[in-house]
Amino acid sequence: MSDTESLADDSSTETPAAEQSTADASTTDQSAEKDIVLEVEDLQKSFGGLVATDHATFEVERGTITGLIGPNGAGKSTIFNLISGFYEADGGSVTVNGTDVTNMEPYQVADEGLIRTFQTPRKLEGMTVREAMLIGPRNQPGESFLTLFTDPDAVNEAESANLADAQRILEEFEIDHLATQPATDISGGQMKLVELARAMLAEPEILLLDEPVAGVNPTLRNTLADQIRRLNEQGTTFLLIEHDMEFVMSLADPVVVLNQGSVLMEGEPDEIQTDERVIEAYLGGGT
Ligand code: ADP
Ligand code: MG
Repeated sequence: MSDTESLADDSSTETPAAEQSTADASTTDQSAEKDIVLEVEDLQKSFGGLVATDHATFEVERGTITGLIGPNGAGKSTIFNLISGFYEADGGSVTVNGTDVTNMEPYQVADEGLIRTFQTPRKLEGMTVREAMLIGPRNQPGESFLTLFTDPDAVNEAESANLADAQRILEEFEIDHLATQPATDISGGQMKLVELARAMLAEPEILLLDEPVAGVNPTLRNTLADQIRRLNEQGTTFLLIEHDMEFVMSLADPVVVLNQGSVLMEGEPDEIQTDERVIEAYLGGGT
C-alpha cells in the first residue's frame, strides 16, 4: 500500500504529513500552486455488506481532462453518484470549488458548477431533441414551477434564452439538424452527443462523463473526442469514466485508477498503461 501511495505522490496534492517528509521540495511547491476544482477525500459507500467506495481520495485540477478508469464493478459510477449528490456518502467529503458539497442535493451540486452525465441516458420518450436539451440539470422543477404562477413573464424570458442557448450549442455540436427529431429516433451515438450538448447548456465548470462512448461507432467516437477537446480548450474541466482505453488514454491526463472502491494509482497515461498493478487489476477484474 505504501508502495502504491509513493508512486502516486507527484500527482496527488493532499499528501499526508507522514508522506510529505519523503516528497522533495519541488513536489510540495507544485501542489501549492494547483487549482483544484474537485476534491474527493476519504469517500466511503457500502450497499449492505458490499463496499463500493473504500476510502477513495483524489482530486481534479482545473483545466484538465482527468480520466477515471478501473475494471467493471470497481466503483466508478458509484463515485460519480456520490460526488453529484445522487447517493448519500457513509463517510468522507466532496469539495467543489472550495465548497463542501458532501451529501447536498444534485441541483445544489450543479449550482456549484458540477454537472454529470449518466452511463445509461435517461428516457426521453415523447420529446424532440430540442425539448430534451431544455430539461437541463440546472432547471429546478420546483422553482420554475412556482415562478410559473408568480411571474410568467420571467419564465417566458428564461425559456427563450434557454431556447437560443440550446440552438447555439446544437450548432456547435453540428447536430442542429436533429433538433426536431424525436429524441428516441436518433442513434445511440447521437444520443450521447445530445447528452453532452445538454450538459453544456448548464455551463459547467466541471463535467463528469460516465462512459460517453460506450456503444458508439468509431466515427461518432472521434466526433465526441473532438468535442470534448474543444470544450476543454474553451475552459471546461472534465472527469471522464471510459472503458475504451484508446479513447481515455488519448484524451485524459492524469488518469486515476480505481480498484475495488479505492484509488490504486494516479499518473500519466503512459505510466498507467505499463503499470503492473493496473494490468493485474484489469486481468483480475470483474470478480
Ligand atoms: P463501475 O461503474 O466501476 O463498473 P459501480 O460503481 O457501478 O462500478 O459498482 C460498484 C459496485 O457497487 C458493484 O458491485 C455494484 O454492484 C455495486 N452497486 C452500485 N450501485 C449499487 C446500488 N444502487 N445498490 C447496490 N449495489 C450497488
Ligand atoms: Mg459504471
